[in-house]
Amino acid sequence: MDDTLEKLIKLQSVDYQLKSIQEKMGNLPDRVLSLEMRIKEEEVRKVQNVERIKQNEDIVTKSQGKISEYRAKLEKYEEQLYLVTTNRQYDALTAEIDYAKKQIEEAEAEIKKSRDESKELEKSKNRADTMVESFKKELEAAKSDLEKTIQETREEKNLLEKERLEITKQIPRNILTVYERVKKARHGIAVVPIVRDACGGCNNKVIPQKRVDIYKRNKIVTCDICGRFIYSDGDNLTVDK
Ligand SMILES: [Zn+2]
Repeated sequence: MDDTLEKLIKLQSVDYQLKSIQEKMGNLPDRVLSLEMRIKEEEVRKVQNVERIKQNEDIVTKSQGKISEYRAKLEKYEEQLYLVTTNRQYDALTAEIDYAKKQIEEAEAEIKKSRDESKELEKSKNRADTMVESFKKELEAAKSDLEKTIQETREEKNLLEKERLEITKQIPRNILTVYERVKKARHGIAVVPIVRDACGGCNNKVIPQKRVDIYKRNKIVTCDICGRFIYSDGDNLTVDK
């Protein structure tokens, strides 16, 4: 058998075993990642909420100062109202009074708005706390499951990876590149046997000339349809080759 073809078959077998190990982890690695991300997101949101609540407190303090200031002015203006002697003075003073009242109203509205918003932010902060708590528990469990599976498969995986490295060193680079590309595109399977004259991967009939090469086993042949390497394991020779 062609040496490279033999190596490709071996590589496929090793990769298949590595894939099985990876599958044993199931969705645990994804779950760990996604939980870590969600915890981070909630924590960022919490920090933003706290920041915003603090800003609202500043707005309230400032608005309260503004209210005191304009209440004092109002008091003064109302006293002055008794002292005015001309219409012009009266108009000017009432304009000042209206302005001060408007400022107070605005400040009060600002305070209400900030306090309402802070109340909601506080609620959302508490919700985030609860969520982070439960995410953390879930994460801990997922991490420990994952760690256990990694421990259980570590030795086997190391051996396979060492074997893989040895095999890949013996395969020409251009062929290896094709292998990796097809493996990625075809759910991990890039080398398949010929089955009843068809590609064992995609089931399409192999053209006669290629079939001859496959059965002779001394040439690298790929499927015209799916791109996988096709080999004959010797058990599937047919009369019509
Ligand atoms: Zn195919």
